[in-house]
Amino acid sequence: MGNVRTVYDISVTLGEESFAYPGDTPYSREFLMTVEKGGFYNLSKVVMSAHSGTHIDAPFHFIPGARTVEQFAVQNFIRTAHVVSIQDKEMIRPHEFEKLDNKPGDAVLFKTQNSETGRCRCGSFSKEYVYISKEASECCAEKKLGIVGLDYIAVDRYGDMECSSHKILLGNNIFILEGINLEAVPPGRYTLFCLPLKMKGAEASPVRAILI
Ligand SMILES: [Zn+2]
Repeated sequence: MGNVRTVYDISVTLGEESFAYPGDTPYSREFLMTVEKGGFYNLSKVVMSAHSGTHIDAPFHFIPGARTVEQFAVQNFIRTAHVVSIQDKEMIRPHEFEKLDNKPGDAVLFKTQNSETGRCRCGSFSKEYVYISKEASECCAEKKLGIVGLDYIAVDRYGDMECSSHKILLGNNIFILEGINLEAVPPGRYTLFCLPLKMKGAEASPVRAILI
């Protein structure tokens, strides 16, 4: 068969690989009824944060009065994406953008040690992770990116109360795709699909993210 396209699922499994940022609501699911115990059907209840597992942040997450997830057309969440390999074990720095040949609106997904070590899908939060520096976030704005993705649940350094990267990216109308797993994805160019749930007024939403 010709024309077979590889589809990469870059989402983490909720309730197994996912974990919450400290202070956030952890994902949980419980059965309210099961066939096994005499119920009519299997029915479960899910409790989670808008930032559980693989998710997208809309500008309203940090910017008062900015738009929320359901106010964007779905086209916004389908983009040409560049998967960039990062060797730096601490943070993403501006020099990583030197070779980036993107068009305005493209997505850039950083594949870091967070994917290589399995940290992004290990089921528990670690304070040590590769994050996006403030200066690198400024490069994302200069490059006019549409979506910036990181293989961890947060883009700012742990303990950075300024949340500079969140503010710079969202303030420049760049969506943030957090909690992806790029372990199996070779660096290169793809089409990204990461559609948020259509939740009224939400500042963020879990997504099923894939690369084709
Ligand atoms: Zn988030």
